[in-house]
Amino acid sequence: MIEPGGTIGILGGGQLGRMTALAAANLAYRCHIYCPDATSPAMQVSPYATVAAYDDQAALERFAAAVDVVTFEFENVPAATAALLATGKPVYPRPAILGICQNRLKEKDFLRAHGVATTPYRKVTSARELAMALGEIGSSAILKTSQFGYDGKGQIAVEPGIDVAGAWSSLKTSEGILERRVDFACEISVVLARGADGLVASYVPVENRHKLGILAATIAPAPIDSSLATQADTIARNIAEALDLVGVLAVEMFVTRDGGLMVNELAPRPHNSGHWTIDACVTSQFEQLVRAVCGLPLGSTAVRSEAVMTNLIGADVAIWREAIGEQGTKLHLYGKADAAPGRKMGHITRLKPRS
Ligand code: AMP
Repeated sequence: MIEPGGTIGILGGGQLGRMTALAAANLAYRCHIYCPDATSPAMQVSPYATVAAYDDQAALERFAAAVDVVTFEFENVPAATAALLATGKPVYPRPAILGICQNRLKEKDFLRAHGVATTPYRKVTSARELAMALGEIGSSAILKTSQFGYDGKGQIAVEPGIDVAGAWSSLKTSEGILERRVDFACEISVVLARGADGLVASYVPVENRHKLGILAATIAPAPIDSSLATQADTIARNIAEALDLVGVLAVEMFVTRDGGLMVNELAPRPHNSGHWTIDACVTSQFEQLVRAVCGLPLGSTAVRSEAVMTNLIGADVAIWREAIGEQGTKLHLYGKADAAPGRKMGHITRLKPRS
């Protein structure tokens, strides 16, 4: 066990790292943020920082020597970086999980191999393969880069009659995935934590509403019936088990029109759809990550209040002035200077006390 006073190394300096560092500080852990950007949100609230590229071997070695355990707040950490760090210090979740979750094809292959339903998909590496895949999957589909996509980036909506060669070249990648478009009733996610002892603590499923591929709002708990909620929880727990996860995992799912569940995506880290847990649950997803990687028992995931989390994206952040004065609303700002379109600047959680 790493006791309070120890140092947690976090790869990545975004808002997920920032909120993890704040939770760590509450338990008297110190965070050391490794990120190429010296103005990153996480560094603003952490006592230690390394500003270096993710492939800077000397900087990675110094970082590993300075921390007790390493975790990450985004999946696109190069596999070699995670492997190098793992030779010096424990890395949780283990690097092999990163390898699966940072590639949409490997992720879906993993899910299928473990009997988890996904939308039909095909690997695509050329315009010719795209044409063949369209024949098999159908032309109501989404073409995605297999790696480095997030928040709807690296995705092209495919419609009947699409210019196949043009679509393939505009994706600008050597490997893509064609997924059949799911006609979903709603999107939900389950966030959970799993400790090194294999014990799991999951949060209630939540509903996620997206705009332009970016999460706009999370409704907690999801307004779904309890048997579907139990099924979603079981799916997420089985995936965490199959991954042998130590850390936090988000499992994004589609609820299909016939009431079935399909897994869309995994994130082996705190997730935007778990931000509501800071204000509305006994233990936040960020504290769970700290507990899991330090070998502490996981905390209670009990819901203290229903909640609606709304992301403040780009210029939306200006509404902080109203939000700060609203009763029952908690405001979180990430300390980003430039409110560029599509950039997550903060979020608000509106709490609905249970009667
Ligand atoms: P992703 O980056 O894969 O999480 O996609 C972002 C959002 O795009 C999802 O939350 C869905 O709203 C939508 N989306 C992605 N893949 C599909 C799909 N196969 N069918 C329908 N909608 C999708």
